[in-house]
Amino acid sequence: MSTVIQAYRFALDPTPSQESTLRSHCGAQRFAYNWGLARVKAVMNQREAEASYGVPEDERTPALSWSAYSLRKDWNQAKFEVAPWWGENSKEAYSSGLANLATALKNWGDSRSGKRKGRKAGFPVFKGKRGVLSCRFTTGAFGLAADRRHVKLPRIGVVRTCENTRKLARGIEQGTARIRSVTVSMRGGRWFVSFSVEVERNDSAPRNPDSVVGVDLGVTSLAVLSTGEVIANPRHLEVALRELRRLSRQAARRQGPDRRTRRTPSRRWLKTQTRIQRLHTRVADARRDGLHKLSTRLVREHGAVVIEDLNVTGMTKNRRLARHSAGVGMGELRRQIGYKAAWSGVRVHVADRFYPSSKICSGCGAVKAKLRLSERVYRCEHCGMALDRDRNAARNLAALVQQGPSSASCVVRLNEPDGNPHKTRTTRAAGTATGRPTRSTPHRKVTAHDTFSHVS
Ligand SMILES: [Zn+2]
Repeated sequence: MSTVIQAYRFALDPTPSQESTLRSHCGAQRFAYNWGLARVKAVMNQREAEASYGVPEDERTPALSWSAYSLRKDWNQAKFEVAPWWGENSKEAYSSGLANLATALKNWGDSRSGKRKGRKAGFPVFKGKRGVLSCRFTTGAFGLAADRRHVKLPRIGVVRTCENTRKLARGIEQGTARIRSVTVSMRGGRWFVSFSVEVERNDSAPRNPDSVVGVDLGVTSLAVLSTGEVIANPRHLEVALRELRRLSRQAARRQGPDRRTRRTPSRRWLKTQTRIQRLHTRVADARRDGLHKLSTRLVREHGAVVIEDLNVTGMTKNRRLARHSAGVGMGELRRQIGYKAAWSGVRVHVADRFYPSSKICSGCGAVKAKLRLSERVYRCEHCGMALDRDRNAARNLAALVQQGPSSASCVVRLNEPDGNPHKTRTTRAAGTATGRPTRSTPHRKVTAHDTFSHVS
């Protein structure tokens, strides 16, 4: 049994007056955030100017503390002056804005000093009116209503939810779930409430603890497994995508905005844009739903899951890549499998970014130098195997851990140039850490021994 923090999110159906209170709270959060940021910036600029004039350190304007606590203390002194209307909203709205600011400032500081890994965090920017509306409550009267169709929020009142809250309600009744905080937000024109919950999870081990499954996200289907199973796209996705294309054409016929001539968009164009926006949300929801069902199924059935480490940000920027959407899904699937696997003790292996899963023959181990995206079927010149491209990739991924359990999750690197795109060359399976193919044996199988023996 383990205690994890999980979010339970429900769509809200607020009354018009509740909606205006929700908006007011989110605006209050933004106001406090921007107020704090302006102050921090002013003091920083002042100190910088003083330093350039040669004012000694102890005579300069004192530096501001960036902790949420001191930002809040400053706000409580200034609020009568800068926001005489502060009493209209819960004080939690302002606190959450300042807490977010403190986190943003800390991330920036840690990123600059090298304490924080990953992409560089920029200095916080002011929040505009068109951003995501959100507001968090950490104290006060919030929770679920007894009828399981409403939630209680401080100052906002009892708001109806669009779906039943029983999953969370049962946990609370049985004492296995405890709500820590609640956040309301508006995305894609809908209001949501998200409970941050401490949950005692008791997941059972996977059904086949010894089985290994490789997952390759497909182009035409959602995913292809190494077992040969093809997981189809969510049911309504195709219909939604067709409708999306139709609406895009419709928008193109209508008069949009033009910055150079300062032409304002027509009402009809705006109407189509709202519909497109809503449809985009629905497509994203359908995809996420499909991925959730897939990731849950994988960790319930298999003892180890192997997925690719794709350069997701790089891929989504490449518009010509047919796997655009597959790349988006891979990042999300990795995230979901990552946390769900931890619950049930499933091992996750992430194949190296340069592991050529789709270029290796899963039958004999020969590697193709180039495989065009249009080639949907993998045909091997060495053993004559012909297999669906995605399934071949999935089988290669599964083979990475087939024989070497609990080994490192990193594998062979093959940094070969792609060569002439119009000529398909065949090289031997890479077995060296340098990425140069071995010359001795003509066709060698990529065995688990090969792939793991070169991990330093
Ligand atoms: Zn082959």
